[in-house]
Amino acid sequence: MALLEIEDVGKSFGSLKAVDGVTLSVEKGRIQGIAGPNGSGKSTLFNLVTGIPFGPDRGRVRIDGVPIERLSAHEIAGAGIARTFQRETSFDGLTVFENALVGATFGGRIRASAMAREAAAEALQLAGFAPAGFGRLAGELSVFERKCLMLATACAMRPKLLLLDEPASGLTRPEIEASIGLVRSIAASGVTIVLIEHVLTFLMNLSDHLVILSGGRVLASGSPREVIADPAVVEVYLGTRRSAA
Ligand code: ADP
Ligand code: MG
Repeated sequence: MALLEIEDVGKSFGSLKAVDGVTLSVEKGRIQGIAGPNGSGKSTLFNLVTGIPFGPDRGRVRIDGVPIERLSAHEIAGAGIARTFQRETSFDGLTVFENALVGATFGGRIRASAMAREAAAEALQLAGFAPAGFGRLAGELSVFERKCLMLATACAMRPKLLLLDEPASGLTRPEIEASIGLVRSIAASGVTIVLIEHVLTFLMNLSDHLVILSGGRVLASGSPREVIADPAVVEVYLGTRRSAA
């Protein structure tokens, strides 16, 4: 059985079908990539899975076989799903450590405060923060550090499944290399990962399996090499990238 099963999920905003009948599954231990043009429904799909800020209009979502499409965001986190956001999101007036601590307790998977502090510290160190930097204010971090903090905050709740929304966007090449290493080490710690990304080196380097969305639907699904060579993908996804460039 797959860790995450998404079945015929849909979400409309007025007459716009942002996600229009998506079915996909993610095997345990996998790093699965999701790509597609701007506006193809990638971030909305993550919103529907996590309930942040809304669930689907229709369809089913299961983790480990348990239906979650009607649960609150907090309960979904409690079932073991964490996420990051496309824009760097942190509590800027809190310290690095306090941000990770909020992540550790969200969803109630970790209840004891000593354990939450341990999980927060462990996730921060995995994300490259030395203990000497735990007291810095989140609002004072660089873009790259803020992305690392968002990742640490998500990992601190010790999720089964981590959804990453464009972790490499806006980063320099050395920073992209560093975050590829970081995602690898999170995966090696036993977390299954779904990764939305525009940066192709990131996807090709990391994904075991790649899904392309277009117009809220699955256009292609398979190994990254297969999918990138698919003529429909070249036309819709790469064609759009070229015209956007
Ligand atoms: P992607 O992440 O693939 O770039 P999104 O999932 O953010 O795309 O958006 C898919 C479509 O849904 C876009 O046309 C976007 O404008 C629209 N959309 C997303 N969120 C909302 C919302 N909260 N209200 C109205 N329209 C939205
Ligand atoms: Mg998006």
